[in-house]
Amino acid sequence: MIVSKVVDTNLIDLHSHTHSSDGSATPRELITLAASAGARAVAITDHDTLDGLAEGRTAAQDAGIEFVAGVEISADFQPGTMHILGYLVDEWSKDLNSALERLRTARRERNPRIAGRLQELGLDISYDEVASLAGNKVVGRPHFASLMVRKGYVATIKEAFDRFLAKGAPAYVEKERLSPADSIGLIKSAGGVAVLAHPYQLKLTDQDTEDEIRRLKDLGLDGIEAIYSRHSTEERERYSRLARRLGLLITGGSDFHGTFKPDISLVTGLGDLQVPYELLDQIKSTAASRSAPGN
Ligand code: AMP
Ligand code: ZN
Ligand code: FE
Ligand code: FE
Repeated sequence: MIVSKVVDTNLIDLHSHTHSSDGSATPRELITLAASAGARAVAITDHDTLDGLAEGRTAAQDAGIEFVAGVEISADFQPGTMHILGYLVDEWSKDLNSALERLRTARRERNPRIAGRLQELGLDISYDEVASLAGNKVVGRPHFASLMVRKGYVATIKEAFDRFLAKGAPAYVEKERLSPADSIGLIKSAGGVAVLAHPYQLKLTDQDTEDEIRRLKDLGLDGIEAIYSRHSTEERERYSRLARRLGLLITGGSDFHGTFKPDISLVTGLGDLQVPYELLDQIKSTAASRSAPGN
């Protein structure tokens, strides 16, 4: 993988996935990559698991960069996709850990059904193979996509999603999800900061996006991931303005998945990502104000 050297050492990345979910790098590899890219801080935000955080934190200490504990939860939403990022959560929270365990169980129920659909469509893809490729961690659709590329059924991960795995495609299988309210509530009750990830994926008009984000704010949402790899410059500006107007934090990240999203680099995204350290300071202030004695 190509690591583009960041010149500005004030840059951070608040959205990344490791081998504990559907990224390809171990937490330590990811931190090493962030350090060699010159990042000042990096968050690991795996889907439905906190498993990679301990290794990430130790590796960050070794590498001399700041570590941010995170998680990404998929909420129940139509027509698009709603992911809620949680930052600086209490990793020992019983409620959070048991809810994440339930979500992992829902995945284990869904994933063999995806394999079944693919087999019905004539592809020789077994769940066992996918699980072993994933290393028996949190299995996600990118693992299926990767095996489909490896077996030559599709040329790219994107093609696997477009033709088979994306919402609405023939091998898409729903899984049980938390409501937006429960996703946000869970993060907040574990002392974390709740942020709407990649808002363009909601697939709403501008006005409906604003209305939805206002509702999420009433449920406790703290911020919007305005600065995101796949957001255009115009979208980054528009979502930042919306955040400021609604009194929400602005956050940003690449959504690095290593070889499972080969076009996205850590810290630099598609090449033009710039997330300033100041945004992390604001997340930390928000979390600190919440955990003040008496709250
Ligand atoms: P899952 O957790 O199994 O629902 O899969 C979610 C993962 O699949 C996330 O990493 C998404 O970024 C990725 N994903 C979802 N839809 C697409 C798509 N249309 N193209 C590429 N990746 C996708
Ligand atoms: Zn993912
Ligand atoms: Fe996401
Ligand atoms: Fe993500």
